[in-house]
Amino acid sequence: MALIIDSHAHFEPRMLSEADLISKLDAAGVDKVALIPAMNDPLPPVPELMPSAVRLLMQSSLTRPLAEAAHRLTLTNEGNLRLLSGEYKIYPQPDNASAFELVKRHPERFLSWAFLNPRASANVLDDLEKWRSYSGMIGVKLHPHWHDYTTDLLFPLFERMQELNLPALIHLGFGKRGDYRAIAEKFPRLRIIAAHAGFPFYQDMWNFAKQHNIYVDLSSPYIDENLARAAVKAMGAERCLYGTDAPYGFADENHSYDYTAIRGWVERMPVSAAEKERIFAGNFLNLLEAS
Ligand SMILES: [Zn+2]
Repeated sequence: MALIIDSHAHFEPRMLSEADLISKLDAAGVDKVALIPAMNDPLPPVPELMPSAVRLLMQSSLTRPLAEAAHRLTLTNEGNLRLLSGEYKIYPQPDNASAFELVKRHPERFLSWAFLNPRASANVLDDLEKWRSYSGMIGVKLHPHWHDYTTDLLFPLFERMQELNLPALIHLGFGKRGDYRAIAEKFPRLRIIAAHAGFPFYQDMWNFAKQHNIYVDLSSPYIDENLARAAVKAMGAERCLYGTDAPYGFADENHSYDYTAIRGWVERMPVSAAEKERIFAGNFLNLLEAS
């Protein structure tokens, strides 16, 4: 069977233990996982976090400001997440060491993104130097949406990453917190993976991305099967990467993570077997080889 690599998953042992994670990967035939440390307290089920109505609002530039206003209401002054069921901490500095320790225990199975936050760090370039020396480090994860900063703060970091040929996996925010146009134009050689099919811009970003060095992952309940298909149709299979955002969303019957859900989206896509192989692993391997 063709190789399957999950390009976007979180190491969150409070929701999915190391042993359970590995047995789920074995059962679902996922060969490798690019980890990201958890950036928040364990979250409630998805409908509360991301009502489908909000997802619809994001799909047009006319209604996107309403989705942004709804998002602003969920962030507290302290930078935490306020939902109906309570408040959940967002960690300014996610625990990269936890993910790199898992990589060390299972180097054949796991790789890791280093999660950086220019807003919370005295010197994010030093942080990059520290984490890039860890074995299995493949690039940098950034989250201006929940870490709540404008993406111009990332320019010095992107300058260095472009020199080092390291890709950036970025969960874009609204407006200036996700100015992908400015990033791609200023750093034309930087390889950018926009998480969750280009949340919160989707189609508006896909059109632009095709002319630039921008890829998307097809992870998480921030999108659905239709949006994943639309992204592949708009950008081409060669720009789309399989990813899950595990262990968030897609609960199985035991309230654990269902690793087969997003895999099914890709398997059912109306594209060739070769294109599916690229989405499942080929594109990601090409990105890493270029590093
Ligand atoms: Zn994620």
